[in-house]
Amino acid sequence: MVEKLEEIDDYLDPHYIQRSNWLRAAVLGANDGILSTASIAIGVAAASDIRDPIILATLAGLVAGALSMAAGEYVSVSSQTDVEKADIERERQELKEMPEIELQRLAEIYEKRGLKKETARKVAQELTEHDALGAHVRDELGINDISQAKPMQAALASGAAFTVGGLLPFLVTLFIPLESLEYSLYGFSLLFLIILGALAAKAGGSSIGKAILRITFWGTVAMGLTALVGHLFNVNVG
Ligand SMILES: [Zn+2]
Repeated sequence: MVEKLEEIDDYLDPHYIQRSNWLRAAVLGANDGILSTASIAIGVAAASDIRDPIILATLAGLVAGALSMAAGEYVSVSSQTDVEKADIERERQELKEMPEIELQRLAEIYEKRGLKKETARKVAQELTEHDALGAHVRDELGINDISQAKPMQAALASGAAFTVGGLLPFLVTLFIPLESLEYSLYGFSLLFLIILGALAAKAGGSSIGKAILRITFWGTVAMGLTALVGHLFNVNVG
């Protein structure tokens, strides 16, 4: 019984949903940061026998990746904001032009959610009197504080997450001996990816084993292919 109540509590806790949205964006960003920065580092390490170009390419990849991730997030979330704003404006117009139809529409939404016809009508009427646009935006369009897009916050969050993720393989290029740099980059980056994948799976309540398998496979493919390209390049240059 106690367990069930906690589960329901968790389910109803808006903060949990907000947290999980943020977590997913942060994990995605950090994952990208680790994988793309490590792949660049491994590719250049495979083609170069000196450290400086490796450090330079890794740092350039980290900065470029973080900025493009932030810019991409800003653009995509901004367009979502634009759509939301246009929807809200159309809703405002509809409420002005056809208030009775809108009231009926709202009542039908509450009826579908399980209220009796009369109760649904009454709730719709009272909420319309209180704040018609607010009720329609929330219950008809499904836009609420939690889902409302915040472009700058999203951009900063994913840019920061990418940077934190990318810093890990970058530190490896600074300190690990050159002879074993390629394999160390692969090993360390895979370890970082596995820890991140396991944390995300745990926080999201999904299978940790599956998450680790998935990230190990795709991480190996990405880093393996760039190492191959680096070696091919090295043969051509050497
Ligand atoms: Zn409406």
